[in-house]
Amino acid sequence: MRIADLRATTVTVPLEAPLRHANGCHWGRFVRTIVEVETNDGKIGLGEMGGGGESAEAVFRGLRTDLIGHDPARIEELRFLVSNPTASLYNNRTQVMAAIEFACLDLLGQSWGVPVSEILGGRLRDRVPFASYCFFRYGDPKTGAGEVRTIDQVVANARALKAKYGFTTHKVKAGVFHPDYELEVYHAVAHEFPKDRVRFDPNAVWSTEDAIRFGQAIEGLNNDYLEDPVFGLNGMRRTREKVRVPLATNTVVVNFEQLAANALDTAVDVILLDTTFWGGIRPCVKVAGVCETFQLGVAVHSSGELGIQLSTMLHLGAVIPNLSFAADAHYHHLTDDIIEGGLMKYEGGSIAVPTGPGLGVTLDREKLRQYAELYRELGNYPYDRDPLRPGWAALVPNDRWADPNDGRWPEMKR
Ligand SMILES: [Mg+2]
Repeated sequence: MRIADLRATTVTVPLEAPLRHANGCHWGRFVRTIVEVETNDGKIGLGEMGGGGESAEAVFRGLRTDLIGHDPARIEELRFLVSNPTASLYNNRTQVMAAIEFACLDLLGQSWGVPVSEILGGRLRDRVPFASYCFFRYGDPKTGAGEVRTIDQVVANARALKAKYGFTTHKVKAGVFHPDYELEVYHAVAHEFPKDRVRFDPNAVWSTEDAIRFGQAIEGLNNDYLEDPVFGLNGMRRTREKVRVPLATNTVVVNFEQLAANALDTAVDVILLDTTFWGGIRPCVKVAGVCETFQLGVAVHSSGELGIQLSTMLHLGAVIPNLSFAADAHYHHLTDDIIEGGLMKYEGGSIAVPTGPGLGVTLDREKLRQYAELYRELGNYPYDRDPLRPGWAALVPNDRWADPNDGRWPEMKR
């Protein structure tokens, strides 16, 4: 089997509402690049990458000459061809490599008639549990409905997510408002579900002192962990010395060099594995092995996925023995998907690991066409901008918080 062609298509798929975060906002939709790797025997392997547009598609087009004729089973060779670690200093293609790795694993699974999880060591679980992932949200750009800003709105939203999907872990995504306000929000969520687990993620925008103050104030709650309270291994280490809550990260341990540093002088307890950030599913399995050795925790991170990437997260979650936390997914904030059958279903807060050959998902061509067309109409959105605060940028550490009494909602095309 040889690679015969490579295609990348940018799509944008609407979210239920604009999701606010520490650096700005998801403006009511996600932009993703869908990658198709076709072989000489007519198979199509699927990959997915965050962001998109002409420049992203051009990167994949530029790799066609190198990849055509290559055996998709030789993934380790591809790693050096696409994302050689020293060449990456000039041209970082880690996330591109991830999309290609997903597609190659999908092709191998299809060829061998087994799910990707069987290639990665075999599944240890058939379903992967997820957290509720509660965001502050702007109201719907047309109607203003669906706003999540006040404490009552946050709790009501978490309750609705639990009722609909069955979550027993609640993640509060924060870093938007002053930490004192968000502390009240987090306590309210934790007290609403005293038997459920909770976790909090301000996206690394606090000072170390704010991180310590907040961390100490949540010690009595049923915490999984406090995620990225501060940006940098030293701030995390100082926080960890003074706070009796495990710390997690998807920002300061995102490569093997940082993983080694954290093993030698621990600053973070739980490493969040992102199949895109780490360059594929296989590197994440490798990280989980290192964490098993050093008895660090792991969980599955979400950088905003459609069904192809969600499938990579499910196969990863199925095969790592030390997955001791619910995974994160933005997935249930989407209104639709580009895979056949539409959005994958949650039951009891978990999603079944696909059982079909390869990644176990198939492109819905009509949906791909529809959302590629929507992308051509709307283009990209600025992830690190807040639609209601023109000219604003978060500092690190931040002190320019949004106002929790501001109930406006922004105009935006969706
Ligand atoms: Mg995070």
